[in-house]
Amino acid sequence: MHRPDARGYFGGAFGGKFVPEVLYEALAELERGMDAAFADPTFWNEYHALLRDFVGRPSPLMEATRLVEEAGAAKVLFKREDLNHTGAHKINNTVGQGLLARRMGKGRIIAETGAGQHGVATATIGAKLGIPVDVYMGALDVERQSLNVFVMKLLGAQVHSVTSGTQTLKDATNEAFREWAARVEDTFYVIGSVVGAHPYPFMVREFQKVIGIEARAQVLERYGRLPTDVVACVGGGSNAMGIFSGFIDDLDVRLWGVEAAGHGLDAGDTAASLNAGSIGILHGSRSYLLQTPEGQVSNTHSISAGLDYPGVGPEHAFLKESGRATYVSATDEEALRAYHRCAEREGIVPALESAHALAHAQKLARELGGKGLVLVNLSGRGDKDTRQVAALEER
Ligand SMILES: *Cc1c(COP(=O)(O)O)cnc(C)c1O
Repeated sequence: MHRPDARGYFGGAFGGKFVPEVLYEALAELERGMDAAFADPTFWNEYHALLRDFVGRPSPLMEATRLVEEAGAAKVLFKREDLNHTGAHKINNTVGQGLLARRMGKGRIIAETGAGQHGVATATIGAKLGIPVDVYMGALDVERQSLNVFVMKLLGAQVHSVTSGTQTLKDATNEAFREWAARVEDTFYVIGSVVGAHPYPFMVREFQKVIGIEARAQVLERYGRLPTDVVACVGGGSNAMGIFSGFIDDLDVRLWGVEAAGHGLDAGDTAASLNAGSIGILHGSRSYLLQTPEGQVSNTHSISAGLDYPGVGPEHAFLKESGRATYVSATDEEALRAYHRCAEREGIVPALESAHALAHAQKLARELGGKGLVLVNLSGRGDKDTRQVAALEER
């Protein structure tokens, strides 16, 4: 199952638990609760029943017949996470953590959110399970993402606007940590990607692994062989770890993580932690991050809010160092081109995050030729981005 070691490190080097003392016991309690749940078939039965009836899984596998039209190019396949309830892969994880919160007897869920997608996914499961949800969000993001704030409120969540620091995700995360430390007994902290202190990166991966398990079976059934290449965008890295997990032991299958280069890796306006960052500690774990030579977390830029994060999950750092996965990047412009192409040629408006993966998948399909079978994780749908794209292109 590729578990990190007892101290929470992948490959002995990435991960860990860099948290204040009060949270150390909270993490230990979470790990005990998680281990008990993971060993209990009734927990997984409940999880899979909700994924089926509430989320709409299994998500389909679709051949993208027109995305790359050159004769002799590789086939491209989409794993349709955009068709999930709430429009992305994030719900797979919040369903799992919501059930765990209930099982552990926690009366309240907290979460932090940047663009609001994780906040909505958390508020959604809170409503379904009847657990109150408090969402922390930077004041600037509350303003920029007013629609998601409205949806969270519709779902019954309380949204707390965080006015400290840069008033964005970083500050919201600090506030959520503070709130957790203050009310450890009755509070479950739902983290939205494979980041944070152990056991979060492992736990979130296990909840997203369903993507890879389904996709592997679907490709085998339909094509009688495994894909040659699997491609996913990487922000914190949860949709990528989810699909990679299904193929991690199939050593002939190449795994590609696509980071957001923003304006370009050299331009400095980037969010590509593995390609342009260095090793350090952020939000409780040791991994790659974008930082200044003095170790201050850098400001990041990406056209896509979901990839605009200075860190990356520790297991990706390990997969990069071990060579099992390869990490490339796509610029804002490349992603935007892929976004339009997917809309026009496949009838799917993808999330801007997913468009980064599509940009690389197109390149691969042309290079590989007819032998290739390229599986892309279409992590989410693009409705949430249409206003932003329209504004960009009117200028
Ligand atoms: C949040 C989000 C991402 C980035 O998160 P990961 O943890 O890297 O998967 C990617 N795609 C969509 C659609 C998202 O909403």
